[in-house]
Amino acid sequence: MSIFFRNFAPDFELFDEKMAVLDPKLEDKTLHLIGQEADRLGMECYVIGGWVRDLLLHRPSKDIDVVAVGSGITLAEAVHKRLKGSHLSVFRTYGTAQVKRGDIELEFVGARRESYRHDSRNPIVEDGTLQDDQNRRDFTINALAICLNEKRYGELLDPFQGIRDLNAGIIRTPLDPEITFDDDPLRMMRAVRFACQLGFSLNITTFEAIQRYAERIRIITKERIADELNKIMLSPKPSVGWKLLDKTGLLQIIFPELAALKGVETRDGRGHKDVFLHTLQVLDNVAESSDSLWLRWAALLHDIGKPKSKQWEDGVGWTFKNHNYIGAKMVPRLFARMKLPQNEKMEYVRKLVDLHMRPITLIEDTVTDSAVRRLLFEAGDDIDDLMLLCRADITSKNEEKVRRFKANYELVRQKMVELEERDRIRNFQPPVRGEEIMETLGLQPCREVGLLKEAIKDAILDGVIPNEYEPAREYMLQKAKEMGLYSAKE
Ligand code: ATP
Ligand code: MG
Repeated sequence: MSIFFRNFAPDFELFDEKMAVLDPKLEDKTLHLIGQEADRLGMECYVIGGWVRDLLLHRPSKDIDVVAVGSGITLAEAVHKRLKGSHLSVFRTYGTAQVKRGDIELEFVGARRESYRHDSRNPIVEDGTLQDDQNRRDFTINALAICLNEKRYGELLDPFQGIRDLNAGIIRTPLDPEITFDDDPLRMMRAVRFACQLGFSLNITTFEAIQRYAERIRIITKERIADELNKIMLSPKPSVGWKLLDKTGLLQIIFPELAALKGVETRDGRGHKDVFLHTLQVLDNVAESSDSLWLRWAALLHDIGKPKSKQWEDGVGWTFKNHNYIGAKMVPRLFARMKLPQNEKMEYVRKLVDLHMRPITLIEDTVTDSAVRRLLFEAGDDIDDLMLLCRADITSKNEEKVRRFKANYELVRQKMVELEERDRIRNFQPPVRGEEIMETLGLQPCREVGLLKEAIKDAILDGVIPNEYEPAREYMLQKAKEMGLYSAKE
């Protein structure tokens, strides 16, 4: 018998259901040391779950989960003693312990059996065998275990044909999917996330069980859902995850505003883009050029205001006026509800959603220096991200339109470079500060000081004066005279 791997070819030797894994990463000294300590304590011990899956897929992975048939804490303490310079943390209530050294994180737990009662989200946990422990895992590909005891070192235990599923690219629950998802509904999010991250498919019964149990996701905390969404967002092609969330019915529950972008309405034979599909295309376009999580969120949310702004105008067709502004206003509340950050990351996404039309309107109008300077000023250091988003937003099927947009886009870009070199607008600080205005004119802080500052800024952005101290001071004095704040004698 031989095994063919889709996108990897690990070295296996087969004997019955057990296989020996001969991967150089398994020759790690620390793993041998764990096995030796387990031997000394008379325990079986295995490396299990995500680390084994990623080893076989040749994906990088940091945290190593170790299951001991016995006390995980005792094994962790023994390993900690042998590993010079390591740090031990024990979590007695959970029966787990962590040993950290450098960037290696070892998680220890005793093999356990979990049973769920319907009226409680927390399982009843008892000591168990390795098989019990594998039974409680979410997917077949996450239930693989490799023995670390010296005599059986490298032996792979695969009770649910996880290797077959790794090979075929399938996400499947080890036990009845309805029970698996009913017990812990977060697993539905994890199923979608792994499908998206690994480019796998959901097995049909697993998929249908998610459709039936989607409502149960409501009992899961928003923080844990957000973690999974961020992992979907950081995948090579995030649209895959969002489409699966939609097809399983999870999207409508966890993110109704995004689900509201779906569909096309037609009137007098005129339709509009399906904003959901367009959005996902923009997201994938951005993901091809940038790993930035928050730029990807900005792409996902760039048209989130469209359903609220949609209108039919006779003789014009469908319009989405101010959808950027409406969308930007939705961002803080959406982030708060979904337990995404409330800090400068949110502010960045809000700003990009707000400004996402601006480079395009520059393209469509005549591209004046003043308009480009204002855009540079408002976007600041985020101008490159904004331009990337704007470029990704050009998804028309009309090739001529795309060609024209792209050519104009290049023109705006070029102009930006020239103006930025000349005027340094990007991180613009007014050359005359408020304090100086107050001192020169003998004013206390008041509305007029703000007006003068604003006037200097506008004059610079409009190209009336250069971005320099002397001309700015002259201009301020002249404006102050006009406002009756300053007389010639001074
Ligand atoms: P990643 O680290 O990329 O999130 P992972 O599979 O390693 O992926 P972890 O959350 O680190 O995920 O969990 C490690 C292992 O614990 C999993 O591989 C799986 O076997 C098990 N596991 C984690 N969460 C669950 C869950 N909700 N239900 C069942 N098993 C789980
Ligand atoms: Mg992990």
